[in-house]
Amino acid sequence: MSMRPYIVGNWKMNGTRSLLSEARSIDRASARYPGVSVALAPPATLIAALREAVSVIGVGGQDCHAEAKGAFTGDIAAAQLKDAGADFVIVGHSERRAAHGESDAMVKAKAEAALECGLMVILCVGETLADRDGGQAEGIVARQVDGSLPQGEAAAAGVPERLSIAYEPVWAIGTGRVAAVEDVVAMHAVLRDRLVAAYGDAGNDVAILYGGSVNASNAAALLGAEGVGGALVGGASLTAEAFLPIVAAAGGEPVD
Ligand code: PEP
Repeated sequence: MSMRPYIVGNWKMNGTRSLLSEARSIDRASARYPGVSVALAPPATLIAALREAVSVIGVGGQDCHAEAKGAFTGDIAAAQLKDAGADFVIVGHSERRAAHGESDAMVKAKAEAALECGLMVILCVGETLADRDGGQAEGIVARQVDGSLPQGEAAAAGVPERLSIAYEPVWAIGTGRVAAVEDVVAMHAVLRDRLVAAYGDAGNDVAILYGGSVNASNAAALLGAEGVGGALVGGASLTAEAFLPIVAAAGGEPVD
């Protein structure tokens, strides 16, 4: 696999226009790391403004509806994200699975809708602490990814170039607890098997990211681990100061 490491910041429900200055700084500095693909997923209210503010990094949404339009108050269609300037969308984040009751089938439908309208997709999976403590982590995550992967024509056209998987242990998100590198490597191998089972050889080229309390101190070890194609970063993506060392850890020496 020769793809560039993919470092994506998820701003969650944080930020108003005043945070665009951080995005500009991240964009300027990312231009010095051409070996890294960098992107930010701001709240939907900031997608259009962030698109205008940056020139190098990707811009994405944090969720989309599976339907193209209709009576779904408060929701956003994939085509609306694209129209606002998004290149990609995150689907199946554990915060949405938990707080909005999103099932694997719903996540799959969202991923298919996004691919159909030309967005790239980052599909999140991950086990709870109870799953891991009970020795169930790999089985649970394998079932999650099997049930959530996009299928059909949209998937055939979009895999592997437009699909990434983010392995995010729920207990590591926003907690400061990071998964052990050997557990990340083992889970990424499980995910790779499931991707190949679903898509054949094309499954070998789908990027698999790690997410969960990635920061400047642990990024190099995680990004250097076998099978880790990048990182999905929450808290440490809100400022250039916290995020750029993660980009640097993925990209080696910057160019001038
Ligand atoms: C996330 O929200 O996807 C995430 C990984 O958050 P954090 O980096 O804050 O753990």
